[in-house]
Amino acid sequence: MTDRGTARPPGAEQSRHGIGVSPGTAYGPVVQVAPPVAPPADEPAASDPAAAAESVVAAFMRVASALDAKADQLDADARDILRATALIARDRALHRAAARHLEAGSGPATSVAAAIEEFAAQFEALGGYFAERVADLRDIGSRVVAEVLGERVPGVPDLSEPSVIVADDLAPAETATLDRALVLGIVTEAGGRTSHTAILAAQMGIPAVVQLADATEIPVGTPVSLDGDSGEVVLHPDPAAVAAQRERRERRAAALARISGPGATSDGHGVALLANIGGIEDAELAGPQDVEGVGLFRTEFVFLSADRAPTVEDQTEIYRRVFEPFGERRVVVRTLDAGADKPLAFADLGPEENPALGRRGLRLSQARPELLDAQLEALAAAASLTRADVRVMAPMVATAEEAGWFAARVAANGLRCSGVMIEVPAAALRAEQVLGAVHFGSLGTNDLAQYTMAADRMEGELSDLLDPWQPAVLDLIAAAASGARAAGKPLGVCGESAGDPLLALVLTGLGVTSLSMAAGKVPAVRLALSAHSLADCEGLAALARTETTPRAAREAVRAAAAPELLELL
Ligand code: PEP
Ligand code: MG
Repeated sequence: MTDRGTARPPGAEQSRHGIGVSPGTAYGPVVQVAPPVAPPADEPAASDPAAAAESVVAAFMRVASALDAKADQLDADARDILRATALIARDRALHRAAARHLEAGSGPATSVAAAIEEFAAQFEALGGYFAERVADLRDIGSRVVAEVLGERVPGVPDLSEPSVIVADDLAPAETATLDRALVLGIVTEAGGRTSHTAILAAQMGIPAVVQLADATEIPVGTPVSLDGDSGEVVLHPDPAAVAAQRERRERRAAALARISGPGATSDGHGVALLANIGGIEDAELAGPQDVEGVGLFRTEFVFLSADRAPTVEDQTEIYRRVFEPFGERRVVVRTLDAGADKPLAFADLGPEENPALGRRGLRLSQARPELLDAQLEALAAAASLTRADVRVMAPMVATAEEAGWFAARVAANGLRCSGVMIEVPAAALRAEQVLGAVHFGSLGTNDLAQYTMAADRMEGELSDLLDPWQPAVLDLIAAAASGARAAGKPLGVCGESAGDPLLALVLTGLGVTSLSMAAGKVPAVRLALSAHSLADCEGLAALARTETTPRAAREAVRAAAAPELLELL
């Protein structure tokens, strides 16, 4: 553990601060997630290729045995999958391929990686069952490379007890596959408030803190408590502090349980409160909760690990299962927002200099319209099988022309209601024209902050610039809301800012008509709205916009908001 200046006895309580991104508190032992290991670029050739080949085979066999041991602890389906993966690791042809690379002068780890890629290409060419095994093959590769280099096995280790996961950062696919029953909380050293790890953690209801300095140096097993609202992480917390944290959690839950139903200000101005979801499991969790539907279904999250484009039939079944838990409520589906920080293997247009400014979102759909049409066809089929009020929106729209192109495609596939994300400054400034082409808009404040402030949302060091309380971001939201009013179209917010109770008041005051967030954040926002009239919200919005820094804007709104709210924040 890094000792920051003062010598502390081991085991002494130590408080640190990161950024809270998923509300709630957790207490448990630390489990560290090892980062992926790449073969060193300058790995020397093996001096004795035959002996090196034997060591490489031994590493493959150790990985296979570890997978078998893990399989023994799982249920039948998962067991079969892991046993099949272990069989690949024992495949002699794979071992021979690595030996050939060793003889040709590559180092051991490089030879393993090259053999794996050779096989991946063959599996992909074979298609079907084989193509679906490519992710398993690469997983074996990264485990064997780590073995060969004597590094820790990458990825989230198997948890034997409820734990707090600590990592430099987690890939979206890693976060999505965490076991909700065993992961009490997540702490990362990197990441930012709108990184997809943060978004997924909030959706999964797992408390999370990002940007915690030196988090990866916390020894495994250290007891920690974390607060996903304030961002505080305490190492070796005093038992009295853990009890106080639990009491606060209970008080907060009791206060939030006192109010239910549709979102509205104290004078009855309705603001629909909706859930952000990323797949079937989220839908099944959010459906029974007190939400008015879904304001953002990030469909790309379903396919993060897919090697091949899903068929229309497969997609139809997934979407049907997502819609079902919401009965007749609305479900706003966003078409694939692939590219940049959310790459999809089957929707890859090749390397780009600046992926966040490249062919992502709707631009990718325009380059690969067959992917969009297959998705729209599946959405229309799933909508006809359920009672849900299905609406479809496009990500990364910059112009009215793009909005019109999308609306026509949606209509051609028999879907009635189309919308667009307003997350590019150009679309916010021209909201009246952009929204004129569709039925509704939804502000993606995560990307709007990124593009307004020219600050990569994956760059945790730039968190302050990415703060949605930035005056320029609030100005753009105000411009978009006034454009939406002029066009007579509803405009919601589905970026992470919607789940901040104070900012939700400001957004309402600026004129947004719905707020969509991780379902776990809805109760606090509902309570905040109920304690203020629409005129109060307009006053708070004006107040926020008079300030010149995000911190001052938040503090001014906090000081002017209803006092009963403050205990919950
Ligand atoms: C956003 O950009 O605010 C948004 C909601 O979309 P995503 O976070 O998936 O980019
Ligand atoms: Mg976005």
